[in-house]
Amino acid sequence: MNELYQVYKNFFESEIFEKKFNGMWRNIELMQEVLNKKQLERYHNCSTYLKYAIVKNLEGNFVEKLVVANFCKNRWCSICNWRRSLKYRTILNNRIVKVKEKYNAKFIFVTFTIKNTYYKNLKEDLKLILNSFSKLFKYLLRRNRGILGYVRSLEFTLQKDNIEFINLHIHVLVAVTTSYFNKNYNLYLNQKDWTNLWQKYLGVDYKPVVDVRLVKKRKKSTYTAEELAVFEVVKYILKDIDLLRLQKEKRVDIFKELYQSFRNVRNLGFGGVFAPKNFKKEKEEEDLINIKDSEIKGEVVAEIEYVLKDKDSGYVLKNFKEVK
Ligand SMILES: [Zn+2]
Repeated sequence: MNELYQVYKNFFESEIFEKKFNGMWRNIELMQEVLNKKQLERYHNCSTYLKYAIVKNLEGNFVEKLVVANFCKNRWCSICNWRRSLKYRTILNNRIVKVKEKYNAKFIFVTFTIKNTYYKNLKEDLKLILNSFSKLFKYLLRRNRGILGYVRSLEFTLQKDNIEFINLHIHVLVAVTTSYFNKNYNLYLNQKDWTNLWQKYLGVDYKPVVDVRLVKKRKKSTYTAEELAVFEVVKYILKDIDLLRLQKEKRVDIFKELYQSFRNVRNLGFGGVFAPKNFKKEKEEEDLINIKDSEIKGEVVAEIEYVLKDKDSGYVLKNFKEVK
């Protein structure tokens, strides 16, 4: 057994690997209610095969890089969603850096909510929250010179004491100019202004909850303020954790409604300076294998394959091959 092999056997046996792939599991019981046989099979077999290249990077360290995997790409798959959030982190961070440089932008984080939705009304309420949001920002981008653009994500949570009610929120990272904060320009929107605008565009008779925060660096964090904000936004891309709470009766009914309602809804939306046309096309957004492949440069020294047997035995090392 050579040294390199040992290095990767250690990686494989490490907790990190366990948590990353084997730690998430498939919810076959719910998924079989909404997927056809072929889709279900793909979902069931998601990432049961993983092939890594072992790269000796420019600093001389061995790093692993995923090169082949059979991801199912189902929107409710926790493994694929974990890969997606990593992917979006990279894409968003790149865009934010560019916007910051080009416009000297500052960022605020706004959360828009509506009243709890009964699960049977989910489709209509999704339409309401998304349409109202898009109208509000169309207006703001046209009329408020302080607002440059946005990235939004959609979140749902099931109400704690009654899972038949769903909270829908939109989380938005808004890029603003420095003059947005300058009193002389009269561009600044306070909490009350945001709430009134949101109420107006929702067309409701209650005051909806709106939370507004300045994106700030946290004392102990090594991340920049913007990176932290990106984590917040991508964190909300379809949390499947709530599905695990669907253990009570009606769970199938509720899940079916969720599945149908979210079908044609985009998790992330962009506008203004964040509009996709302003960026060169990112490498295929649904490529869940290459997350930040450009960062790993060096020479491939070995290939290693893992297969998943079952939940209890987890992944097993299938093949290890040095590349000469
Ligand atoms: Zn998957």
